[in-house]
Amino acid sequence: MNRIEWDQYFMAQSHLLALRSTCTRLAVGATIVRDKRIIAGGYNGSIAGGTHCIDEGCYVIDNHCVRTIHAEMNAILQCAKFGVPTQNAEIYVTHFPCLQCCKAIIQAGIKVVYYAIDYKNHPYAMELYSQADVKVEQVELDEMIIDLKTKEKIQFVADLLIKLTEAGADAKEITALHEQANKLFSSYV
Ligand SMILES: [Zn+2]
Ligand SMILES: [Zn+2]
Repeated sequence: MNRIEWDQYFMAQSHLLALRSTCTRLAVGATIVRDKRIIAGGYNGSIAGGTHCIDEGCYVIDNHCVRTIHAEMNAILQCAKFGVPTQNAEIYVTHFPCLQCCKAIIQAGIKVVYYAIDYKNHPYAMELYSQADVKVEQVELDEMIIDLKTKEKIQFVADLLIKLTEAGADAKEITALHEQANKLFSSYV
């Protein structure tokens, strides 16, 4: 049995959190970890009790959605709310953090930033991290752990089956392949 690596486990957690995002522009998740334990998590969304972008559209000023609070901020503020120290912690984020979050991460005493996806990586953020001795490392999520392309895969298999039928493949064989595909994807349909 293969155990998944810690960095994959925490990065997967951030990707799961991103699925809770309420902003339609970008879904981000962040997990704060200390001594291999998850101490907080966040996603980008509205202030508690506020209206959601997914319901009423984004509130865009200067090309930014101002309604939402970023995933990294939410995770750090969760620690503030419950009095959990972030000193020497690590953060796993789905996307490279923006400048504001970069500053908050450094100021919270977080020492390592793992991110999965390059996103408008600001050179000034890299400068600040290096000045503060914060390590930054890209950790891409292994798709064997969380499959975020299931819908596309189902569509791909469906298209292949149609092509096979059109190409005049044996009807019995096609039926068997259909059943096999239905079994594999049944929990998603
Ligand atoms: Zn929004
Ligand atoms: Zn941010």
